[in-house]
Amino acid sequence: MEIPEFLQGFFYTGQEPVIPIAYDGFWVGFSILVAMVGSIAGLTIADLSKQIKHTLTRRSMQLAGAVTFGVTVWAMHFVGMLAVSIPVSMSYSPWMTLVSSFPAIIAAWFAIRWTAGRQRSHVNRATTALLIAVGIGVMHYTGMVAMQMEALLRFEVVDFTYSILIAILLSYIGIWADEELRARWQSLSAHLVGGALLGLAISGMHYEGMKSVRVIASADMMGVSNSVDRAYLGVIIFLGVIAAVGIGLSTSLITKLRINLKELNVSRAQLKTIITGGLNSVIVVNSNNEIESINAQTEQLFKIDKDKIRGSAISQLLPNYDALSGDQGSVLNCEITGYRSDGVEVQLLMRRIWIKSEESEQAVIYLMDISDFRDAERELYYQATHDSLTGLYNRRHLEVCARHEYESLLRNQRPLSALMFDLDHFKLVNDTYGHDVGDLVLKNVASFCGEVLRTNDLFFRSGGEEFVVLLPDTSKTNAMVIGEKLRKHMEAQRISLYSDSLKVTISVGVATTEAQLEGGVEELLTWADEAMYRSKSAGRNCCTHFDTLADVKTAS
Ligand code: GH3
Ligand code: MG
Ligand code: MG
Repeated sequence: MEIPEFLQGFFYTGQEPVIPIAYDGFWVGFSILVAMVGSIAGLTIADLSKQIKHTLTRRSMQLAGAVTFGVTVWAMHFVGMLAVSIPVSMSYSPWMTLVSSFPAIIAAWFAIRWTAGRQRSHVNRATTALLIAVGIGVMHYTGMVAMQMEALLRFEVVDFTYSILIAILLSYIGIWADEELRARWQSLSAHLVGGALLGLAISGMHYEGMKSVRVIASADMMGVSNSVDRAYLGVIIFLGVIAAVGIGLSTSLITKLRINLKELNVSRAQLKTIITGGLNSVIVVNSNNEIESINAQTEQLFKIDKDKIRGSAISQLLPNYDALSGDQGSVLNCEITGYRSDGVEVQLLMRRIWIKSEESEQAVIYLMDISDFRDAERELYYQATHDSLTGLYNRRHLEVCARHEYESLLRNQRPLSALMFDLDHFKLVNDTYGHDVGDLVLKNVASFCGEVLRTNDLFFRSGGEEFVVLLPDTSKTNAMVIGEKLRKHMEAQRISLYSDSLKVTISVGVATTEAQLEGGVEELLTWADEAMYRSKSAGRNCCTHFDTLADVKTAS
């Protein structure tokens, strides 16, 4: 091939006599190892840097990685040069040697940016491979030019071209392999293999480049050995590589650790806010149900001191806690009674979640004080089911209870009786003494009648001065006995007024059923009502059973 004149200072024309170049196997092997170690370190740092969110920190780490990687590539080149024996005197220009490290660092920067980046197109990968190859190529040939010797140094153009093509191809394979392996393996294993391949690519390029070297020397320049410098230079380069890899990796790890620590502190602060800032009382207990920590809300709720309660059994606050079921894997929701340090009972809504780790097993208990809510609920229920004047059950509750008792009668085939009574001539009381006295009388009637009834009997004020008693499991005969007892008891009472006293009588109607009724329990109540009106018609102050007029007993 004809070499243009202006390139003849660089490329070998094929005319001049050349001297043979020999290689030392040990140094060749060592140079390849250096390239591999540098590549593995570079890829690992690039991967670690990906996890850093802070841009400046991430870039600094990648720069440290690029310096580590670049310096080792550069070192590879010079260890590779130590492997070469050329029998002419030679030395290296220190400045040129130093300058040759920059393209290596720039090439390493591209490799690291690619590994740490997210874009994964063939074009981008090829561009990156090209940039890496150009960087390594420039470093290699600058490094060669740093060699100073009497003899002339030229490059064979075909091998030179091959070396560049091999650099591009092998760089592409190296970064592609690392990527592919990372998708399948753990990062470290992927970088070990990917980095080794990239290291091979770099050394491959170097030795292909070395194949193109032609040393043109005359016989009088030859016969010099360069072995004196080798060991010395080798040790320096070796230590340099160790330092570069060590500094690069440790900087990256420390940065990563610092970021982890920062994140941990943030999480800890967040956790603290979650525990202390919520509305709930939070208690952490260990697997022996002993209190490990509580928040301020718990201190307030139970009127206890954080430091004094630590280590105590949770049953001290929640006596039923130990009896709770539910395995440790599941979340438990329940209502539980708690006791404050002053003995006051509190009703609590509880949720328990277990936290299991290798080191410990803890349960987090969230408590919400629902005492006020339960009190209000109870009060509302009372108001909805009771009559405010007499304290007896009201009409609405009568409907519920009557249906309930009727269903139980059907289930158990037991008799159910209903008893209804109305005050006799009550209008007269109101008219004579006023409405307030009328109210007082109603209250007295409720309490007098309550004295006669059994605990199972259900007593209602069904209307103005009308009352109903449901008598579960009570036959007609027994119901009549109770009705009569009520009537007589009322008749015997004197309701004392301010300066006077008053006698009130009642008219009672009773109905009993032992079987299903067509009109349901309402029919039974209608019967009792009818029987009561029969008592009224019969002259009042008497007790009548619905199905027979023979039971009518008229008072004197
Ligand atoms: P009878 O013997 O026929 O039952 O005669 P009565 O006067 O009792 O007549 P009735 O049962 O029809 O009268 C009911 C009266 O009860 C009418 C009303 O003024 C009075 N009343 C109803 N609810 C109340 C109440 O809550 N307080 C008072 N003081 N009176 C009431
Ligand atoms: Mg009446
Ligand atoms: Mg009435």
